[in-house]
Amino acid sequence: MIAVVATKTSIPASERIVKILGVRDTRDRIEVGDRFVPVPGSGDLRACDRCGREHEIHVDVELADGRRANIGSGCAKGETMEIQSRLKSAVSAAKTRSKLRAELATAKQELATASAVDAEVRKLSLPEPRLIEEIPDPRGVRQVWAMDDAHVWVLPGSKFDTERRQSLVSAWRNDRALERLHAHGLKHAYLHLYKQHVDDLEDRLAKVERKLAGMMF
Ligand SMILES: [Zn+2]
Repeated sequence: MIAVVATKTSIPASERIVKILGVRDTRDRIEVGDRFVPVPGSGDLRACDRCGREHEIHVDVELADGRRANIGSGCAKGETMEIQSRLKSAVSAAKTRSKLRAELATAKQELATASAVDAEVRKLSLPEPRLIEEIPDPRGVRQVWAMDDAHVWVLPGSKFDTERRQSLVSAWRNDRALERLHAHGLKHAYLHLYKQHVDDLEDRLAKVERKLAGMMF
């Protein structure tokens, strides 16, 4: 460990930063509305070799004399503009990574919940379809069939066939799924969209990981 109190002009040549080895934002994030915001004080505090305070964003650097040092995101004052600007970009990418990880964890949880609800709903025994209305139409009678609160129309003059029955079953299962999902704060029952959200976040996270790796030098 080294203890250097930095001022704008007083970093000895041997203690200047020559490499950024890693950046981590250790703070937890919570979902507020649709944003994932960091919780101050939730991260791991690590003593800073530059300013002596403790930081939740950890930056590992290598110094000109080959030693490693731990600093915070705002503790590179007095370094060259290039180092300061690289550090700023790396810290920003590390914050994005932290945010995406939190979003991904939530998205995976939501997918797991939606999958479990879907499996549960598919096991429910189906109510008998009931003909609840017949509406006269110039092209023939339009029937409305229902299972509990779900219902489907049948084209004028057509029968309640296998396709219409399947459509009604889907609508009924969607309603049963929504009742359960709403209890978890989830708003829709489209499994493929939960899966797509996880895939999107995994892609974005992989991109920011690559970007961050490219910033280490
Ligand atoms: Zn510091």
